[in-house]
Amino acid sequence: MMKLYSTKNPKYIVDFETALFQSLPPDNGLYMPCAFPVLSRQEWQELITCSFPEIAFRMAHAFLHEEVESQHLRKIVEEAFCFPIPLVQLDEQRFVLELFHGPSLAFKDIGARFMSRLMAYFLEKRQREIHILVATSGDTGGAVALGFHRVPGIKVTILFPSGKVSALQEKQLTTLNENIHTLEIEGSFDDCQHLVKQAFLDQELNQRFILASANSINIARLIPQSFYYVYAWAQLRRQGIEEPPIFSVPSGNFGNLTAGIFAQRMGMPVQAFVASTNVNDEVPCYLRTGHFQPRPSIPTLSNAMDVGNPSNFQRLSALFGHDVQQMRRWVYGYAFDDRQTLAEIRRVAETEQYVLCPHTAVASLGLRAYFHEHPSTSPGIFLATAHPGKFATVYPEDIRSLPYWPAIPDAVSQIVQQPSRAIRMKNDFAIFKSYLLQST
Ligand SMILES: *Cc1c(COP(=O)(O)O)cnc(C)c1O
Repeated sequence: MMKLYSTKNPKYIVDFETALFQSLPPDNGLYMPCAFPVLSRQEWQELITCSFPEIAFRMAHAFLHEEVESQHLRKIVEEAFCFPIPLVQLDEQRFVLELFHGPSLAFKDIGARFMSRLMAYFLEKRQREIHILVATSGDTGGAVALGFHRVPGIKVTILFPSGKVSALQEKQLTTLNENIHTLEIEGSFDDCQHLVKQAFLDQELNQRFILASANSINIARLIPQSFYYVYAWAQLRRQGIEEPPIFSVPSGNFGNLTAGIFAQRMGMPVQAFVASTNVNDEVPCYLRTGHFQPRPSIPTLSNAMDVGNPSNFQRLSALFGHDVQQMRRWVYGYAFDDRQTLAEIRRVAETEQYVLCPHTAVASLGLRAYFHEHPSTSPGIFLATAHPGKFATVYPEDIRSLPYWPAIPDAVSQIVQQPSRAIRMKNDFAIFKSYLLQST
């Protein structure tokens, strides 16, 4: 059985299904696996030639073989991961892992699609229904809306900060109906996240509904994100590159980076991780000073990373025994402002004919900074978390009119024509709560 503990109390232990539906332990900590299944040398060797769904199946199976029957787990990964995840080589040492070919054009599809199908599996078995609450700074909501749309037994309410997500992101959040509902909150992402946290701790709401989360705080979102690190590593090995890679991860709530460390704990060879952030740089500051100081978030061009109090920091910290010295052995932190981000987009477009989204540009900068401080021959991979077309307004006209500007797939761009169904709401828990109580 897979067991999980609360980061606030290592003695509080639950099974996987509880963690999946509860999201947060009652003590307001975060669930973490008690142990990571370590694959054998032989198993790692075999993974090198596997497809992404096959790698996903084997890794998921290592965690969940007692919870989900093999047949069904295979069906879940095949349905969830029906799009490519190419590793593109930019120069001798730098690779970019394109995680944005799913339906919302951002990497969060991977976690959301796996989690929704896993939930549907348990709900069908138990004949139950649930209500999911999600706060989003942009990409989570789109991935969740699309990943859970029409999934039986699940109703979803999404909260997003008014005016702080891109036009396409907003449409992805607000144009679906049936089991998907959207609230446009007059406040910041942190306000949205706070409203959701309050709802999870509210007794009356918990009596009325089985509430669940789909944010990166849910462990079922995190586990599948470890799969693509292994797929990236496997793609390098297939090209005959044996040296362990450096992964640069554009980070906000730090779910993505945490999942990379899960892969390492399962035995994947890694040289280092780079925590690349925009000016919301609490984690790079922590790595420098040893003090973690949450702050109000600052708006930037890489808005999905505008997080002042990263919710997965406790997990990251727990993975290193809450010891900054231990974390520094594997994780390097760098932060960049919008001016540097735009300059990086331009530089990579001009030298590689490759357009980065603003988040990905931060990761590219982070990898550059790492190599500058630690020259080596190891391969560097930075994660491309979104399609540039999702943030078209960020780019100067001359970049948008480049012949290699990547167009948004038609199926996705059509959504812009559809009307928004969002309800506008004050940042007020009492109003939010009464909305939820009325919405049965
Ligand atoms: C969510 C998101 C991030 C940040 O990922 P975390 O797991 O929260 O650190 C980076 N880039 C994009 C495009 C995102 O949507």
